[in-house]
Amino acid sequence: MAFRITQKQADCIGCGACAAIAPSDWVLKGDKAELVGSKQEGELFVKEVEVAGSNQDAANACPVGCIKVEEKK
Ligand code: SF4
Repeated sequence: MAFRITQKQADCIGCGACAAIAPSDWVLKGDKAELVGSKQEGELFVKEVEVAGSNQDAANACPVGCIKVEEKK
């Protein structure tokens, strides 16, 4: 199984919740969080992983809802 994690970084308010919950995938850089190892696709930063880990918890905790975790078909 694989998962696609996306972040609409323009909406990020830099609260740090994602970096606290899933520190291997999220780091704060200035006033934005970055998805480690992601690639930019238009307005989204995207990363595909085999194990979702804590990223769904990070998505649930994000106050602006800019993180999505989708199962890849
Ligand atoms: S939880 Fe959401 S708003 Fe907060 S730093 Fe992470 S991506 Fe940005």
